[in-house]
Amino acid sequence: MVMQGVKQLQSVMSDTRYRRAVADVMVALAESCDSGLGELDIARVRHRARKIYGCGFKIRVRECVECGHRRVGSGEFSGQMTCKSKSCPTCGENRSHRFGMWMEGAAPLVEQLAPKQSTRPYVWQYLVVTTIRGATNASDWRGLRGRAIELNRSVIRAWKKVLKSPGTGMLKSVEISKTGMVHANLIYFGPTVDMDEVVRVMKEKSPRIGHVSYRSTVCEATPKKTHEALGRIARYSTKSASGARHAYTDEDWLSGEESTDVVDPSLVASWEMATYGMNLASKSGTFVGLPLDERGGYTGEETDLHIEPDTRTERLDEAHAPSDPEDDSLVVCDGCGEHGLWTWVEVDTEGWLRHCHDRMQPGIARSRWHPMLRRWRKQRRWKKINACA
Ligand SMILES: [Zn+2]
Ligand SMILES: [Zn+2]
Repeated sequence: MVMQGVKQLQSVMSDTRYRRAVADVMVALAESCDSGLGELDIARVRHRARKIYGCGFKIRVRECVECGHRRVGSGEFSGQMTCKSKSCPTCGENRSHRFGMWMEGAAPLVEQLAPKQSTRPYVWQYLVVTTIRGATNASDWRGLRGRAIELNRSVIRAWKKVLKSPGTGMLKSVEISKTGMVHANLIYFGPTVDMDEVVRVMKEKSPRIGHVSYRSTVCEATPKKTHEALGRIARYSTKSASGARHAYTDEDWLSGEESTDVVDPSLVASWEMATYGMNLASKSGTFVGLPLDERGGYTGEETDLHIEPDTRTERLDEAHAPSDPEDDSLVVCDGCGEHGLWTWVEVDTEGWLRHCHDRMQPGIARSRWHPMLRRWRKQRRWKKINACA
């Protein structure tokens, strides 16, 4: 039975071992509950645990219909192959990427919705709100659940009573830090927030809540850079279990070629049970009802908003790959030299990533994997060892 405190929250392990550990602890926690599981039941926990363990083993990749060549770097986790859990490395990365894309597309539209004559200028702000009690026992999932619910409620209170006014909008995401701190990340567009007022309103009904630990205004040199920064913040904010995100995006880890530091699997398992059935990320105000799909693409609905027609093409050029993997009709097949007619096939993730890495290429579309990165990390580790000696 894993029942450790908050001291050793990080452990070095592979993706497979991490999943196994999370799944095992979930089942163990559920079995050890004498007083029942509330709206959860043991069968549900077992089912969820199995899904987390089984997720990410398969990846879909593009295959040429003409010659059967599989395009290096075309891998994608999606659809039925994913468990959609909050703590799953592949699903977490998928989700936060979607939110990032959406935020970047939404930002210029939201700006247009600000009132034209306002005495206080509307700016982008990023806030982190925490519970007063910090670190937690890794196995105390009921405690975590209580705090997640309370925090959610007090943020909604603050939104209704202080933050909400014509033209304002907010993206809220509740998550857990690697020390077990339940906190909310808020991306807010509106007049500069009066923090004392926000804290006061939050504490009215929930005295344990309402410590604002971080606040900043998001403003870069150009509007485009600001929107990109907001995309990065949204990506960072919606990861659900923090601290392991670098591992989520780490192809060497997913391929089993390297181990890495991850958040304590017991804490992650607790969080998974604590937030069962809860929607951790939500939008309010002008963020709702924009003519955008979940990846920030224009849905073609009639609107008075000015949609920048070039945004998608620019992004396409920057990435040197189609941003929409379905639309790759212009990509030439390396196997037969034809303009590919591509289809999706499911393959084993580990084998696929290693196959691509052997060719010095990433295996997953839009991945940041780079052969240099791996070598650089090895060097750094080596330096650390030398420094200790
Ligand atoms: Zn998953
Ligand atoms: Zn081909």
